[in-house]
Amino acid sequence: MYLSRGLYVFPNGNKIRRFMIDGKHAKELSEVTFAEQLINFLKIDLDPLKRVLDRLKAQTKENTSLEELMKTFNTIGWIAGNFCVDEPVYSFLLTTVFDGRYAEINHSDELYIFKDQAVNALYHVIHAQAMFFTVADQYCRIEGTHLEKVNRIFTGRETLFKMQLEQIIAHKDVNEKMFYMTRPTLPYNRGYRFENLPDYIWYIFMQVMEYEVGLSQCDYCGHFFIPQTKKKTRYCDRVRTDDGRTCKQIGPQLIYRSKLKHSELLADYDRAINRNYRRVERYELKLENEKEGKDMTYGEYYDWLKELHGAKAAFLAGMISEEEFRGVIHGVD
Ligand SMILES: [Zn+2]
Repeated sequence: MYLSRGLYVFPNGNKIRRFMIDGKHAKELSEVTFAEQLINFLKIDLDPLKRVLDRLKAQTKENTSLEELMKTFNTIGWIAGNFCVDEPVYSFLLTTVFDGRYAEINHSDELYIFKDQAVNALYHVIHAQAMFFTVADQYCRIEGTHLEKVNRIFTGRETLFKMQLEQIIAHKDVNEKMFYMTRPTLPYNRGYRFENLPDYIWYIFMQVMEYEVGLSQCDYCGHFFIPQTKKKTRYCDRVRTDDGRTCKQIGPQLIYRSKLKHSELLADYDRAINRNYRRVERYELKLENEKEGKDMTYGEYYDWLKELHGAKAAFLAGMISEEEFRGVIHGVD
């Protein structure tokens, strides 16, 4: 049986079974929940891809020799192949685009066409992280029920509904390990095939939003997490001090103390997030792509938000001054 290269995903309750198929062989990855996959993607470091994207964008026919362009492709291929070794799904989906195809191209025009495709593919991976981080951050920030939160974040978000998925339906007697029943009572298995990372993450994100999984964001460090208990908690279990104390152990007291002493500054922080988020929303709702005035892209907002989360934790821990924190809060005004 022939299956084209791709990531094949079969939902199994709130978990997914994932198979990487290289065109011949299937390799199953560990089972994860939708929420675990989303949280993992939102925290991976895409800086190496961002740097190489900037380099690639700047390389034109006029200023770059074919040899230099090839070097950049090789760098991208290397980064893609060695990306997040503990979660091979990213590397696999990135190398679908950068699988060395360019090495067989020997015409310069075709190489530049490949370059444009590569720029596009890298941009969409980076954009997906910025967009889903932004939307997930808003989701966690809004007070209310899951339904109210979902309603708020999806309003006016047409771009989130554009995606099309390639559906795979397999009858259970197909003699392939990957089609073993995830729900043994049914005569068929339904799943999806993915060729690129943004589509896959979009699918994951929509599943997380469709069911109430308790997606939360740590008030202290800004990381996403799923609480262990049904009880609402605002702090994650990540270790934050040299002596092994977690956000949950140190966060509440630090936040309480700073709310007493710096309530105006923290209100200023909240206002800045709301203000800048509206700039992103406004830009997304525009039909034309021209940025005007105070418009902000997802990428710009995300870069600022990440810096802000870091600055808040540093400020609460007494590592940076009030002025420095205020500087970041108003860094993109
Ligand atoms: Zn935390």
